Amino acid sequence: MEEHKTEIISYAGMRESMGAVFSIVCGKDRVIMDFGSAFDPEQTGYIKKDGNWILDKLNKGILPPIEGLYPGKYLRKSSLRGYRDCDYNSAVFVSHLHLDHMSNIGAVDANVPIYMSENARKLEYALEDMGKGVDTIGRSYSVFENMTPVQVGKIKVIPIMNSPYSYNMYGFLIETPDLKVGYTADLSLSYECPEMVHREMEIFRDKKVNILYCDNCNFNDRSLIRFFGSADPEKIVPSDEIPEGMVSFDEHYRYIESLFKGNKGLVVFNHYEREMLDVQKIMQWTAEEGRTRVFEPEAAYLVYKFFNSNVSVYLNGYHSDEPWFTELMKSRTEVSREDIMKAPYRYYLHNSFKNINELFNLRSEDGLYIHADGDPFSSKEIALMKKTVREAGFRFASYDTDDYYQHGYPNMVKYFVDVIDPDVVIGYHGRNPERLMAKNGYNLVPEKGVPYVFENGKMIKKDR
Ligand SMILES: [Zn+2]
Repeated sequence: MEEHKTEIISYAGMRESMGAVFSIVCGKDRVIMDFGSAFDPEQTGYIKKDGNWILDKLNKGILPPIEGLYPGKYLRKSSLRGYRDCDYNSAVFVSHLHLDHMSNIGAVDANVPIYMSENARKLEYALEDMGKGVDTIGRSYSVFENMTPVQVGKIKVIPIMNSPYSYNMYGFLIETPDLKVGYTADLSLSYECPEMVHREMEIFRDKKVNILYCDNCNFNDRSLIRFFGSADPEKIVPSDEIPEGMVSFDEHYRYIESLFKGNKGLVVFNHYEREMLDVQKIMQWTAEEGRTRVFEPEAAYLVYKFFNSNVSVYLNGYHSDEPWFTELMKSRTEVSREDIMKAPYRYYLHNSFKNINELFNLRSEDGLYIHADGDPFSSKEIALMKKTVREAGFRFASYDTDDYYQHGYPNMVKYFVDVIDPDVVIGYHGRNPERLMAKNGYNLVPEKGVPYVFENGKMIKKDR
């Protein structure tokens, strides 16, 4: 047993608002939890996808330097050993399809299984069909089922579903012969399915996890001062209640519904293409209003693949010789600019930021543009978007509100940790990890790339 003392190594997410990667190693068995980059995925496009792209990403710190994980043929000028030069038995687990949790999965050797939900895989494959997925060596992905353990040698990983919508969201319980680790991935007790997150909390508590990797990205000055009048984490009062003045997920969605519904003119929206819950709601509201929802081709392909349904496409001169486009065209209904201008009140129209100037061709009475959480994300581009929308004669509305956070409120996250009461809590996925305190155990901010072992209730740096 001694020789297989479990080691935990953290690579991303320790003091960053984006990115999540850590590994749990037991002898030669190894699981890697999430595989995203702390870098803004929108800004990694400057890496040329040639025979050196994996090495380039390693050199830029986008990929973590993990032995025996990448295909050796991409590592020729590196001291890092490739998959075939090590005898690790590895697997990678993806919690959900946000890029900061999975942008690097395509770089992993094809012999290492990468597990995700069936819905996440469906979306990622559809994105890759269009060249819009992760950079990849052209590998495939495996699927896990909710609450069905995946055994990787001596390590057992139990996926725990947090949300059944869209690509699905998961946390994980990881068990080795000498250790139990809980990993929340993105955590909120007031998001899509609070009851599922409570169940995850109870599982972690009942299993008495030793170590809890817990999303605390909202433990920043702004939130703590807003809710507790001070950035001092000692002032956080743990509670299972949504803070006063903030709204629940359902209330937030009723607000969004009110933006779409009851308009007299054309409704244009720019949803984030992989957020299928947003699409599902938009589909529901168009049905209720007797309107038709129309998507640009790339978004239409995702809707068609994900919901396995016929979809209305706004081609506007778009053409591609790619197989995905041919497939889409077989099951599409085409809606033209002329169709829309004849009866603008009959449509919800998707418009991506790159095509925003199309609004000038759609000028009509009572037109509304809804910034539905999609691109653009930078403040400079958002300002340009608003300006264009107004110049084209549309009113502007936005999903963004000040009374709703997607990630957990500090009081609720602290409540979650207190109930679980782990030996060690690792504040994760935020810039202030040390502010998430344990009730009886203690807080640790692990050093990047350093192995820790768990001994007598403590995580100790392993001597090399
Ligand atoms: Zn996240």
